[in-house]
Amino acid sequence: MPPSSRTFKVHTSILFDPKKKAFLKNISIEVDQASGSIINVYKRHDEDRTTFTRHDIDLTGQVVLPGFVDSHTHIFLHSYNERSGIQQMRDESAVERTVRATNHARIALLSGYTTYRDLGTEALGSADANLRDCINRGITPGPRLFVATDALASSGSYEIRRENRSTLEVPVASDVADGVDGVRAAVRRRVGAGADIIKIYADYRRKVMRFPNTEGADRILFPPDRRNPAIPLYTQQEMMTTVDEARIAEVPVAAHCGEARTAIFAARAGVTSVEHVFEDTYGKLDEMIKELVKNKVIWVPTLATAEAEAPQFLDWCKSAVKKAHDAGVRLAAGGDTGAFHHGLNVREMELMIEAGIPLEDVLEACTVGGWEACGGDLCGFRFGWFAKGNRADIIALATDPRKDRKALRKVSFVMKDGQVWKKDGVPLGLVNYPQWPDEEAEAESSDEWTELSTAQPTMSMSVPLPVCRSTGSLS
Ligand SMILES: [Zn+2]
Repeated sequence: MPPSSRTFKVHTSILFDPKKKAFLKNISIEVDQASGSIINVYKRHDEDRTTFTRHDIDLTGQVVLPGFVDSHTHIFLHSYNERSGIQQMRDESAVERTVRATNHARIALLSGYTTYRDLGTEALGSADANLRDCINRGITPGPRLFVATDALASSGSYEIRRENRSTLEVPVASDVADGVDGVRAAVRRRVGAGADIIKIYADYRRKVMRFPNTEGADRILFPPDRRNPAIPLYTQQEMMTTVDEARIAEVPVAAHCGEARTAIFAARAGVTSVEHVFEDTYGKLDEMIKELVKNKVIWVPTLATAEAEAPQFLDWCKSAVKKAHDAGVRLAAGGDTGAFHHGLNVREMELMIEAGIPLEDVLEACTVGGWEACGGDLCGFRFGWFAKGNRADIIALATDPRKDRKALRKVSFVMKDGQVWKKDGVPLGLVNYPQWPDEEAEAESSDEWTELSTAQPTMSMSVPLPVCRSTGSLS
């Protein structure tokens, strides 16, 4: 058998099928190692293991799911609890940020996340596209990245603020674009720079210098009730033009919306997704939900970063997301991961469950929902469910999430593109050592099967610290 046709099977006893939103028994998945894709999914007739071969992977007794998709991440950011976003953008070297991102990618993969929808480098230009390509070449392990490079924002909006020192040079954290011609050109620039997805700041908070939320020397004696509200950055026409140009370029659009009011603008423009929505100052939630449903717009609520960065909004966010889900809004699970620790991504799903959304719907939002948020077939791949031709992204949990509310934290097995990165809870193959030529073995056989499961762990992963609450800017 030539190497290009080598296949193996992954046998399961409990498998979550997100298309059916059901846990199925005794399913096996056949994987083609050469293409990294699934070539068959079938039900075994009984629990007999005698058909299992030594090339197969036995995941019976574990709970098997498609690899998770985090629909809102920042691979170059680490927890704002460690260093604020502004400090990371301003003070960290490109090398430090890249080394950190490399570690984040490994941790994400080992946590069951085989795809990241990465929404902006935060002042590192299009380095995310370069990291994506490194992962795709197998130079370093990590989730499949779909990247935004720089986000679009109107003049003076995002970020780092410098109105008090207007001559100060600061790193550029967005692609500044104004007017319909301006946003059209910016979409073209982003796509040219390697973006898989367009991110646009539909609104942002611009009064942090005026009314900082701090005590001490820069305390404001009599601040307004809303110190730093999220204010629209674009007209309806500008957003519609952004979407129009992105459609021509065949890339999805993610719109940062702090306020429900702005999400209505974005939904009417036909964006693929709205991100966040932490506030509803103008009582527009019902209208927003209606527009999201009508325009088939995905909501990525980023509850995990609300919990970590803006806990005062969390209860409202949870109730709003539940209401939206009940009304038929399409949800995708994305934590704004990076503002809190990569590796704790499943916190988003836990919060969605806490909000009252059924487990099966949450798992679907973190798999099929993620694929749709990446643009669906526009992204060039299929993943997030088990079917012939899909990427062989397969993970397993050590315990059953129907019984154990912390099961999502217990990822015991990870396969991406048919390659195993974690087995029995132990990381595998994260470092590639060059091999001396084995002349004897070469002479003996050029067709010996490489055992998938015999690789030894080559490095131990540090365990991320728990999420801590702090104040900071959201991205
Ligand atoms: Zn973000």
